[in-house]
Amino acid sequence: MVEASSGPEPRKGELMKYKTIQMEKNKKIALVAHDKKKRDLIEWAKFNRDLLAHHKVYATGTTGAALERELKFHVTRLESGPLGGDQQIGSKIVDGEIDFLIFFWDPLEPQPHDPDVKALLRMAVVWNIPIACDRSSADFIISSPLMDSVYERIVPDYSEYRSRLIPGEP
Ligand code: PGA
Repeated sequence: MVEASSGPEPRKGELMKYKTIQMEKNKKIALVAHDKKKRDLIEWAKFNRDLLAHHKVYATGTTGAALERELKFHVTRLESGPLGGDQQIGSKIVDGEIDFLIFFWDPLEPQPHDPDVKALLRMAVVWNIPIACDRSSADFIISSPLMDSVYERIVPDYSEYRSRLIPGEP
């Protein structure tokens, strides 16, 4: 196993505020691209086909159909992004069913589902999963030695947040 950075050291008398979630050797990868970025993502995925093939690949509907056609292996397809696919991926991140996200969003086009895009990126950060939003970041992620090893992903221990006091509640 490749060593990853560990969570902040707890101060004396303070409880550890982090947990870990194990990412297995075979990762669960979500791929999403906006329409004008789909060609880019498909080219990137074709170039990395053999590396991707032994992981489990998820995608939003239209991206997934194109990927399956070009890569010729099974891609788990969710709904099209503007119809809820981004939210489905966000929900899978929360449930620990996605290990990392390759999301080529388009910085030059407003999207009908911009709030969903923001929500998806937010969930990725809440759960500390790696995200690549452009090809160079995706290259760095896919070529990392961590890709092929078990990785202990650190996430904040949200139990304190869950049991926080609500103003006006007893
Ligand atoms: P699509 O969705 O793969 O169905 O085009 C992508 C997105 O816009 O989120």
